[in-house]
Amino acid sequence: MKINLRAMRLQFPQVELNIYNKNNPIEVPILKSEIATSSASPNIIRHITFDLSGTELAGKFFAGQSIGVLPPGVTDKGKPEPLRLYSISSPSYGEDGAGNHHSTTVKRLIGEHWETRQLYAGVCSNYLSSLRPGDTVKVTGPSGKRFLLPENSEDFNYVFFATGTGVAPFRGMIKDLMKKGHRGSIVLIFGAPYRTDLLYESYFRQTESENKNFHYIPTISREDPREDGSRPYVQTQLIDRKKLLYPILEQENTLIYVCGLKGMETGIIQGLAAQSLSDYLVFKKPLNGDPYSWDSDIMKRAVKPGERMFLEVY
Ligand code: NAP
Repeated sequence: MKINLRAMRLQFPQVELNIYNKNNPIEVPILKSEIATSSASPNIIRHITFDLSGTELAGKFFAGQSIGVLPPGVTDKGKPEPLRLYSISSPSYGEDGAGNHHSTTVKRLIGEHWETRQLYAGVCSNYLSSLRPGDTVKVTGPSGKRFLLPENSEDFNYVFFATGTGVAPFRGMIKDLMKKGHRGSIVLIFGAPYRTDLLYESYFRQTESENKNFHYIPTISREDPREDGSRPYVQTQLIDRKKLLYPILEQENTLIYVCGLKGMETGIIQGLAAQSLSDYLVFKKPLNGDPYSWDSDIMKRAVKPGERMFLEVY
């Protein structure tokens, strides 16, 4: 099927970038900080809301953009801690409906140094997670102009792939689409290790129960093995939920957004190619044979997302 995106007017909103930057940040209060996972989860993930009222940032964020956070202190080398970017998880109209209150989704990073076996804690995620309502934080932004819903969002269907906190931008985008009364199909495929790690579960479940065009596919890697015993991942849903997904993906006005762990990129590309959905991809070199046998290093050089696929993976 030949895609004519020009005819479909894939247009993105004009966004204002870096109204505040690392040399000129703005200090704003934390309005709320709430645990976003189930209380039984060993992971600590918080939904943190900034009060941007009265600043130039009010009303300026679009779902899919990021807010910059400048943690206090210096690095091991004595330099100021660098800026970290966090995807906003609020819709473009903010948590308050007026773009004053925007949120992000932060997982406390705690790990063990593989060589020294010493415990380490991520600087900025732990700084942010420890703040309480009323505490202030230096922020910058908005950042990002490519991972956005199109301006003419009603002309498209959406398939969102998320792992872990990568679901943040999709909460905002789905709220934006719902507010506009979106009529096309929307699918959220969300990967988490355990049920207790699912984020914004009640919002997604409720939205699904109220909207026939919204499909929520939680994918629990360590609890719900596939028929062959392997772990289900967001990309394996291309096979396991083909009956639902293929008729949506084959439409020429469907857009794919991917956010979260880098590892899922290869599997999603392979899954699309295996189902002859290569319109989402651009091949710089031809790749032959079964896509699931393609070498990931060769794939990196040979294939990239096309115009209808947007990636934010780390
Ligand atoms: P996580 O909870 O560790 O993992 C989420 C799920 O992904 C688990 O079910 C995990 O399965 C699965 N997974 C692991 N490897 C995978 C692979 N190769 N393909 C598909 N699924 C895979 O996730 P997290 O700690 O929240 O990490 C989220 C990531 O998203 C972070 O790297 C963060 O930086 C990134 N992120 C990016 C943005 C952005 O770019 N704007 C925004 C937010 C978050 P198992 O562990 O059971 O194997």
